[in-house]
Amino acid sequence: MGKTDLIIVGGGAAGLMAGCAAGELGLRALVLERKHKPGRKLLMCGNSRCNLTTNIAEDRMLQMFGEPVGAFLEPAIRAFTPSMLQRWFAANGLKTVVKTGNKVYPHTDRAADVLNLFTDQLRDKNVSLACSSTIQALEKVKSGFRITTDNFEVESSYVLIATGGVSYPKTGSVGDGQEWAKRLGHSIATYRPGLVGFEVEPQVIKGRVGKIYDKVLVDILEDGTKVAETRGVYEIEKWGIGGTAITDASRVVARQGLKDCSLLIKFENGQIEEIRPLRPRSIKEAMVTVGGVALDEVDPRTMESKKCPGLYFAGEVLDIDGPTGGYNLQAAFSTARLAVAAIGRRCGKAGFPAWEPPPKKDRPFKHGSRHGSRK
Ligand SMILES: Cc1cc2nc3c(=O)[nH]c(=O)nc-3n(C[C@H](O)[C@H](O)[C@H](O)COP(=O)(O)OP(=O)(O)OC[C@H]3O[C@@H](n4cnc5c(N)ncnc54)[C@H](O)[C@@H]3O)c2cc1C
Repeated sequence: MGKTDLIIVGGGAAGLMAGCAAGELGLRALVLERKHKPGRKLLMCGNSRCNLTTNIAEDRMLQMFGEPVGAFLEPAIRAFTPSMLQRWFAANGLKTVVKTGNKVYPHTDRAADVLNLFTDQLRDKNVSLACSSTIQALEKVKSGFRITTDNFEVESSYVLIATGGVSYPKTGSVGDGQEWAKRLGHSIATYRPGLVGFEVEPQVIKGRVGKIYDKVLVDILEDGTKVAETRGVYEIEKWGIGGTAITDASRVVARQGLKDCSLLIKFENGQIEEIRPLRPRSIKEAMVTVGGVALDEVDPRTMESKKCPGLYFAGEVLDIDGPTGGYNLQAAFSTARLAVAAIGRRCGKAGFPAWEPPPKKDRPFKHGSRHGSRK
């Protein structure tokens, strides 16, 4: 039976980034993915354009996650910030651009290029990726962990679970990691759909299906009291209401467990519409899962399990979720790198080698240059 330093379970956003980080540190690592191809959900991100992050300062980003997620993610986001993320992609050959609302995309506007970057990096950094590898068992053994797949067994000193949430199960995220975590002593916060539309009374959408309002402000009220606000797009769908302002509101409703809420939609022209949503759409359609491995059982400085030493988590398998705009990928990437950095330290690897050139020295001022400024 083979033995390696680190097995990363799940070849999605978090697992692929973890694999690259492991390669940067020179760890012997193996990424196991149950689907025949990695990154199925990554390819769907941002309408296949992949909204990688939001170009804002860490403090603001952490605030936007809200509690308790923001506090938990603080060490991870500070260690791999939105601007570091952009520099990491550029250093590895994919420049990013900042678009409306500070949303960051690959300059090619193609999620496929993000996935190709990851698989190229794994190849170049000698990290193995085994697809069609569904894990049947994950056991703690004397020397670390033993993983049994349909075809082989492998042992490792450390395991990083990056199997995602339970939304969009066709992409491979079906809740396996949470089940293993449970068996190893973890509690799992109940799953709720985050970033999804709401079903509403038929009269709300009557005669308006297909309408899109670009800029609305939504007050979320519980028992008549405002608890939060969101802004963005409001769309009337044939099954109810959607758009970023509404899906962001659904996450607040799920996170705060609001039972009797209404949405006060404020249009640009001053009109106001109050809607009492009947229910959120299914979790299978949600862009993110609220719920997962309980945060108080994971060390936020390392992503290591407090229940099972040597076991780490990254990404949506944890009870973390953020608003639309690249927050969820940022969380997946940052938690993945933080976990691998901690595992690297335990394997005697000091820290990530510099992956970007040092900043260029200011060129001397040249007379006659355009606008008299440096170019
Ligand atoms: C339609 C859509 C659009 C989105 N757009 C954006 C966006 O633009 N920006 C953004 O920030 N977020 C976006 N998100 C959210 C984002 O995709 C997720 O938060 C992110 O992918 C989570 O990464 P993850 O690695 O934790 O999980 P996933 O990306 O779901 O990856 C988990 C991986 O683990 C594998 N796996 C599961 N079980 C096993 C097992 N037993 N053995 C081996 N492998 C296993 C799965 O097959 C999967 O490949 C979007 C989500 C959806 C559904």
